[in-house]
Amino acid sequence: MSIALLLDPTFRTTPMWMDALRRAMPAEHIVLAGELSHAAAEATVDIALVRGVDPGDLRRFTNLALVQCLWAGVDKLIVDPSVPTDVTLARMVDPALADQMATTALAHTLDICLHHHDYRERQARAVWQPRHAKPMTTKTVAILGFGALGKRCAEYLAMTGANIVGARSSRTSAEDHAPWRTTTCLAETVANADVVINLLPLTEETVGVLGEALFAACTPGAALINLGRGAHLVENDLLASLAAGHLSRAVLDVFTEEPLPAEHPFWGHPKITVTPHVAAETDPHTAASVIAANVAAVRSGRIDRITGMVDRTRGY
Ligand code: NDP
Repeated sequence: MSIALLLDPTFRTTPMWMDALRRAMPAEHIVLAGELSHAAAEATVDIALVRGVDPGDLRRFTNLALVQCLWAGVDKLIVDPSVPTDVTLARMVDPALADQMATTALAHTLDICLHHHDYRERQARAVWQPRHAKPMTTKTVAILGFGALGKRCAEYLAMTGANIVGARSSRTSAEDHAPWRTTTCLAETVANADVVINLLPLTEETVGVLGEALFAACTPGAALINLGRGAHLVENDLLASLAAGHLSRAVLDVFTEEPLPAEHPFWGHPKITVTPHVAAETDPHTAASVIAANVAAVRSGRIDRITGMVDRTRGY
């Protein structure tokens, strides 16, 4: 059997992926999907490695056992008609990806809490004007989505002494002694937060969750960091909350339309920081060993050992 990588051969990271995958699985036959020219070759493919968007038509592979997404988010794949619904779908759960995301969340949180964004603006006007920054031990950070990425962010942020509250869809008792508290209620999670970080998966339940009602539940002066998906955010509700002075700032990494159109009001907004969907990018070299472990699980008939198995009924 073989593994097909569904990436465009001209794509920037395709050679890196092929190299990393072949190193991690020297005994496997790994091919670029575009190089499979006939049905007999396609029938040998039991594992497809795909991007989180436009995966390419997977129905031509008639013996698929696993569709492995190279990204953490599978919101587009779950609704993509070319991804067979009866095949196991796994998302990328890579500790190195979580470290990147946690570094990003920490950087933005400290930028906000230490008022560095204000100093950049004041430097542009040659204004020397210190602002008192309260110690991080007095700050509360809410993390919406306490999964592989959200929890790692909590671990990084806990090192600053900040109080961490996380939101999950289900409660577990396993974390009773952890230095944070989790709830299943988003409004309760954000209630006393100085900074709200979104790392929810995009599902039917979470689309538009960063909107008027949640903002009203936030404490006045709270800042929002959206690292999840653009469709989590109701853009006009954010603009209204910032204009009213309720939310103080927003850092946005993801957008409904990417690239963010040049004429979009977010670009020039004084209270918004825009980053071009760079919070965390899968590294082929670390991800290849995660994929190799999942391939080994398939080959040994232990699908239950797959890391990042997607539950289609939950949507993530
Ligand atoms: P996980 O599936 O590991 O975690 C999702 C978390 O969200 C879980 O804690 C889950 O709860 C919780 N959750 C799901 N639905 C709800 C809900 N309705 N209410 C409350 N909590 C909910 O995902 P990851 O941490 O790996 O990734 C999160 C998202 O980050 C991805 O889906 C993707 O969209 C985004 N992402 C963004 C990147 C960027 O560069 N900006 C890069 C990578 C990912 P429970 O624990 O109970 O299941």
